Amino acid sequence: MPLLKPILTAAFLLICTTATNRARAQTTPRADSMIARIRAEGTDRSQLYRISQVLSDSIGPRLSGTPGLKAGNDWLVSQYRSWGIPARLERFGTWRGWKRGVSHADLISPRVRSLEATLLAWSPGTSGARVEGPVVILADAADSAAFMRWLPAVKGRIVLMSAASTSCRPDADLATHARPATLAAMREQRAATTAAWNARVARTGSTTRTLPRALERAGAVGILTNTWAGGWGSDRIFRGRANGIPTFDVSCEDYGLLYRLAENNQGPIVRLRADASWQGTVPMFNAVAEIRGAEKPEEYVFLSAHFDTWEGASGSTDNGTGTAIMLEAMRILRTVYPNPRRTIIAGHWSGEEQGLIGSRAFSEDHPEVVSGLHALFNQDNGTGRIESISSLGLPDAGAHLERWMASVPLDFKSGITLQVPGTPSSGGTDHAAFVCHGAPAFDLESVNWSYNNYTWHTNRDTFDKIVMDDLRDATLLTAMLVYLASEDDTKITREKTPLVSRTTGLPVQWPACSKATRSWESNAR
Ligand SMILES: [Zn+2]
Repeated sequence: MPLLKPILTAAFLLICTTATNRARAQTTPRADSMIARIRAEGTDRSQLYRISQVLSDSIGPRLSGTPGLKAGNDWLVSQYRSWGIPARLERFGTWRGWKRGVSHADLISPRVRSLEATLLAWSPGTSGARVEGPVVILADAADSAAFMRWLPAVKGRIVLMSAASTSCRPDADLATHARPATLAAMREQRAATTAAWNARVARTGSTTRTLPRALERAGAVGILTNTWAGGWGSDRIFRGRANGIPTFDVSCEDYGLLYRLAENNQGPIVRLRADASWQGTVPMFNAVAEIRGAEKPEEYVFLSAHFDTWEGASGSTDNGTGTAIMLEAMRILRTVYPNPRRTIIAGHWSGEEQGLIGSRAFSEDHPEVVSGLHALFNQDNGTGRIESISSLGLPDAGAHLERWMASVPLDFKSGITLQVPGTPSSGGTDHAAFVCHGAPAFDLESVNWSYNNYTWHTNRDTFDKIVMDDLRDATLLTAMLVYLASEDDTKITREKTPLVSRTTGLPVQWPACSKATRSWESNAR
């Protein structure tokens, strides 16, 4: 999930207080007993370790269109069925099938070093061959005409298409150790390097999206990039955009090595080998599980988390942890609360990373669920315990949230900020696909645990980053909120808080729904 800057604010005062200070509703003995049973089941018989380990290590990343996503979908359904919970895969579109194989990138001259490098998602491979070539840096051309004159020079070469970071030390490390003048100089140098590189790319007349195809048309045999995430050893691994030659992300350190060798005319030659294959057009599915409501089956309490990932590691915290919260909460609820008042649904979305495709498709395909939605809980920012819950712009949803939190034990709610009524989000993650319809949804925001610098879309998003204590607390809180929402006497109303722009102060519209892009061909991202 990208970290979006809020552009809206509620015209009413945004009320942020800690949950422990909220209105204290009278809790019933029955509710207290059920909350205690949820806590006991999730504490004494937790499946979180097993769920997360299988998902991270055995299934691995779950990129749209890959066998990993389909294997994961099938595993989700079999998990639910093994617990006696009806589950299904709902097909909502197609994607371009792609399968990763073994890949290597090696510096072979002026010395040998196996590079820390990852083939980008949806990148072509080398068709069983080893590809070798001198390394060349994207030209610093005066303008697009000069760039076009230079372009034939890439024939038979491997092109460095990113800036090299001046230091691969995280900002926090510089701030800890550098003298003030050194820190200022290093930061200035870092900013200047980025600005100069952006200007260099702009002068080519192309963009970072279109350059790869220009390079391959001119005869380049490979492309190397670096998207450093700002932490020790962490790179974001996104998609390649060349059609016939491989694109690798190379670690900050190794990319810098290649760049300096090329810049100083020390003759770097790299050898690439990548097995990757297109798999035709493949179907895309959401996995949906359901515990039917006994009294109000047409009203829904929804557990929501995207299941797909980027492809640089295991997708453990984006969004394996959100997935585990919803799976385990469903298991606990099925065990201790098998006949809920309202229908409880879990939606495990595919294609979130390409624009909330699965959740948008579900909301389009199931208007009856959107209109019957009582409350939806979504989690998508890593492994931490919940520290903030927003009711996303619906005052009555906020009022209900305050009442639920009054029934939650103190050790599960201390330190949690309620953002009531909060503001609706137009994107970022899957709750937006329901908020745009005016349906009640809640954003469960976790403690950050260095998500942005270390695990969000990176090569370091692995099982060891999961903090099991925090994950258990987030799961139990989610299960308790779902139970309390299911038991509500009244359905949450959809009156919206008035919105104003933070920049202009003028009224703005509620976010509109975007149509789900249901195929690779219609996906412009
Ligand atoms: Zn995510």
